[in-house]
Amino acid sequence: MPRRLERGTRLVIATHNPGKLAEIAALLAPHGLEAISAGALGLAEPEETAPDFAGNARIKALAAAHGAGLPALADDSGFCVAALGGAPGVFSARWAGPGKDFAPAMARVNAELGAGADRRAWFTAALCLAWPGGETATFLGRVEGSAVWPPRGTRGFGYDPIFQPTGATETFGEMASEAKEAISHRARAFAQLRAACLP
Ligand code: IMP
Repeated sequence: MPRRLERGTRLVIATHNPGKLAEIAALLAPHGLEAISAGALGLAEPEETAPDFAGNARIKALAAAHGAGLPALADDSGFCVAALGGAPGVFSARWAGPGKDFAPAMARVNAELGAGADRRAWFTAALCLAWPGGETATFLGRVEGSAVWPPRGTRGFGYDPIFQPTGATETFGEMASEAKEAISHRARAFAQLRAACLP
């Protein structure tokens, strides 16, 4: 059984990505925790050396929990395209380069897909809650859809403008944040975290 957080606990959100930070803070808001970002604590970003989302989420959560001496929650997530063998996957952030510019990263997805008919794509998120003593609990969420071109919408972040979830007419970049939150990979992983670990 994973350990449960108590109301009023200070919890580090172990991300330096402002888009993720906003989404995770909104998901945590009803739970009576005191959320602090890793950036506000001046914690360094560890290298993401694991081959999968769960491994990288664990690296980030443990680094923040040890650095802060507090429980920490990390997200590792990415955009995966079936016809590209799951790429960019764990390299989603790296495809945007040091300037974190997602316009060329989205164009690269489209260029590599070419005229191919198979546009199936998904987002995956791994959320890891780590404790300073080294205990961890990891939860996975996924949302299926397709990679569209051209990009549509200015909401969200990252690859949102080229992802249209199955059954939707809008991309994540066009949807209101509540609509994305109802179905997103991060929200699905969070629902499991909530059931197991939140007060
Ligand atoms: P990470 O910080 O290594 O987990 O990088 C995750 C990357 O995946 C982000 O920088 C985005 O490019 C992409 N990504 C993850 N979740 C989302 C999302 O909800 N929308 C759009 N892009 C996302």
